[in-house]
Formats: sequence, C-alpha cells, structure tokens
Amino acid sequence: MRTLSVIVPCYNEEDNIRLFYNELMKNADFFEEKELVPEIIYIDDGSKDSTAAEVRALAGEDSHVHLISFSRNFGKEAGLYAGLKKSTGEFIVTMDVDLQDPPSLLPEMLGYIEEGYDSVATRRVSRKGEPPIRSFFARKFYKLINRMSKTEIVDGARDYRLMTRQFVDAILSMPEYNRFTKGIFSWVGFETKWIEFENVERAKGETKWSFWKLFLYAIDGIVAFTTAPLAIASFMGVLFCVLAFVLIIVTIIRKLVFGDPTSGWPSLVCIISLVSGVQLFCLGIIGQYMSKTYMEVKNRPIYLIKEEF
Ligand code: UDP
Ligand code: MG
Repeated sequence: MRTLSVIVPCYNEEDNIRLFYNELMKNADFFEEKELVPEIIYIDDGSKDSTAAEVRALAGEDSHVHLISFSRNFGKEAGLYAGLKKSTGEFIVTMDVDLQDPPSLLPEMLGYIEEGYDSVATRRVSRKGEPPIRSFFARKFYKLINRMSKTEIVDGARDYRLMTRQFVDAILSMPEYNRFTKGIFSWVGFETKWIEFENVERAKGETKWSFWKLFLYAIDGIVAFTTAPLAIASFMGVLFCVLAFVLIIVTIIRKLVFGDPTSGWPSLVCIISLVSGVQLFCLGIIGQYMSKTYMEVKNRPIYLIKEEF
C-alpha cells in the first residue's frame, strides 16, 4: 500500500470542506485499484468560521482526514508549506478546497507520475468567469516576470500539482519566509508534465483575493524571483548621469557663447522633478528588496500551529 497525501489549504471555507471530501472520494475505486491510501490534510489558515469544526467532524468519520489549524491567518503559501511538511505520502498533491482544481483529474495525473515524471502541474487555459481587468493585469504580470526572471512562471498555472516525495523534499529544503510557490515549484527543476483544463468557478463562498492583494502578491513574486528591477534602477542611474553630463556641457557652452545665464527656469523645474521622481522610484525598488531581506533575516516561523492531528 502507498500513501497519497492531499494537501488542502482552507480559509473561511466551512461550506466546501465536506463538498471537497465527497468529490475527492469519487476517486475511491481508483485509489483502491492503485493500492493508494489517501491522507487528507486540511490546513485551517486562521478561519473565522467553523472550518476547523467541519474538519474535526469529518475526521470523526474517516481517520484518513487530518487537520492543521493555524493560530491566525498566515496566507495560502504558509498553508501549503505546513501541509507539505506534515505529509508522509509517496505521492503528494496540493489543491484548493473550492473545487476549482477538479479531483477528477487525479487518475490522469497519477498516470503521468507512473510514466516517470517527477511532478504533474495544471494550468487553466481560460479565465472564464473572472473580471476582465483582472485577467488583463494577470497576463501583463506573467509577461513581465518571465521577461525579468530566469525561473519560468507559467501563465494560468494553478497550485494544483501532483508530486513525488523527492520533489516535495526539494521544496521543503527551501525554508524561505517570502514564499512564492509558483516560482519555487519551477525553481527546483525536475521533469514536470503540464496538463490543461478549462477554468472552473468556485463551488461555494467567495475568492479571498482582492485586486490589491493580487497586486502585492505580484510584487512579492517579482522580488522573490528576480533582481532585474535593481539592475533597471542602476541602469537608469547611469543613463541620467550621462544625460546630466551632456546638459552641463551644453549649459557651459551656451553661457560662454551666448552669455545667457538666468533664463531657463521652467526647464530647470522639469529636470528637477523628473530626476527626483526617478530617484524616489529607484529608492522604492531598493526598499522592496531591503524589506524582504529584513523579513528573511528576522527568521520568524512561517506559521504557528494551534491544533494538529
Ligand atoms: N486560502 C488560504 N489562505 C488565505 C487565502 C486563501 O488558505 O489567506 C485558500 C482558500 O481557502 C482556497 C485557496 O487558498 O482553498 C485558493 O483561494 P481562492 O479560491 O480564494 O483563490 P482563487 O481561486 O480565487 O485564486
Ligand atoms: Mg478558488
């Protein structure tokens, strides 16, 4: 018998806990045929509703159900990390509890693992049911980060991924505080098979991601996986130095040839505002990296557990 660990981060998902379990267990015959024992680990990410109670009730009926309850909301990335750490299975799959990651794909995914792939990742090919501006910015983000980073971040990639033990151990060997899982999955390497599916709308409840949260997450991703913005800041510094040098020469020559010292106040204002804008922008970029470094150096735990079984 082999174990398949199913890792499900949940935040205020009381209505979805049982729904997810039932949907997953539609694969029960398949698990049996493949001699797989499921180990379902729900991570209650500091929910304010009865998510934990739902999981406890479910665990009373099926001993394969486990719970990690955080002391507060630490974010999905922390949930995934905690789940991967607790998992004991030979195969490990991470998925959302809202059924946007259809459990019916599991047999196909396991097939690829048996073919020798180290992980099977999924990406949705449509963004049906999502607000158009969100899709627009999401696309732009993936274009931007892939142009800047050597680590490939796939557009539309979900955190729905089936992995071998070896792959998971590689991920666990990265204990960084700022966890951008989409990048980490790609950074560790190994052979990954991509499968595609149409976007599914969430079963119950609402998305936990506001536009602002997604924007901050995008910046986290860029800062975590590329230092290109720092290079851009340096490049702008050099560019403006050259520009300033040319301007100095022009001004001196103009003064010597035309004797025209006082006019030019408007252009001066423009130059000063532009240059100080660029300076603040570059300072901001440096600040982003500094703040991330600060958080890493503090070495705080990624999550704190209140209850676990
Ligand atoms: N989630 C979490 N902690 C959070 C936010 C979300 O564990 O702080 C979980 C959530 O319960 C769900 C998954 O992460 O299982 C994806 O969240 P959501 O469906 O809100 O995101 P979307 O699918 O809209 O990107
Ligand atoms: Mg969702």
